[in-house]
Amino acid sequence: MRETVILDKKFREMIPGEDISKRIGEMAAEINRDYKGKDVVFLGILNGAFLFAADLFKKIDLKARISFVKLASYQGTRSSGSVKELIGWNEDIKGMEVIVLEDIVDTGHTLELIVGELKIRKVTGVKIATLLFKPDAYKKKIPVDYVGFRIPNDFVVGYGLDYDGYGRNLPSVYTLME
Ligand code: 5GP
Repeated sequence: MRETVILDKKFREMIPGEDISKRIGEMAAEINRDYKGKDVVFLGILNGAFLFAADLFKKIDLKARISFVKLASYQGTRSSGSVKELIGWNEDIKGMEVIVLEDIVDTGHTLELIVGELKIRKVTGVKIATLLFKPDAYKKKIPVDYVGFRIPNDFVVGYGLDYDGYGRNLPSVYTLME
């Protein structure tokens, strides 16, 4: 399936599912090497990272736990825009090595929020693994340690990523057609 329609928009296949699977294998191998002998907590960011987190975690051979948090928007009482917070923390991560699993890093706002929260929770170390990274959109200084694919600054869906809630089930990553 090279092209697909979601709601009112057309998308073209950009990264086939087989390439994603191969790359995730390589990322897992790198993490297994880097964290050999360590006890690690993986922290998946819902909703987008659920497929990436599941596929990567299956290939991890460390002593590892996995937990998920979700980014929730709420209307701030003073600010006009929406404020985001992470909800669903139920794992004791103090003193742990944490690897954050993101579907995509765009501007890096989300990442900054997550890393800030992890520091408050006094983790020993934080590294970031993302399936997709948009280097031209990235505005932060936090290093993104494990990157599946660097992509242009275009809107993508599939493999966990949505357009208005749809498209997460596509096994490949698709990019918006003009
Ligand atoms: P950031 O905070 O880095 O700007 O954005 C991260 C979040 O924005 C991602 O977790 C994702 O939810 C959303 N996002 C950024 N770019 C895309 C994209 O191309 N497609 C989709 N579906 N979501 C995106």
